[in-house]
Amino acid sequence: MATPTQRRTSSSRKRRASHAALSPIRTTTCPKCKKPKLPHHACSFCGYHHKTTLPKKVRVKKSVKPGKDRERKDREKKEAKKQEKQV
Ligand SMILES: [Zn+2]
Repeated sequence: MATPTQRRTSSSRKRRASHAALSPIRTTTCPKCKKPKLPHHACSFCGYHHKTTLPKKVRVKKSVKPGKDRERKDREKKEAKKQEKQV
């Protein structure tokens, strides 16, 4: 296994690490439901984006596997019923 040729001083280690800090995710508030959302993105809670509400099909993530399609549809039905009750 390779070994470091020279010892890293504490200052050089810290200098390198000065760029490794993570910055917090900047969010804006949704004008419709007032929940935090990513800027320039549709709201993940209500689907609101630039004066329009996106239909549910667009909001579903594409990474869902085809085998789990039925589970997803069942879940969507449950959520739709919940929303109907709330309104
Ligand atoms: Zn929203």
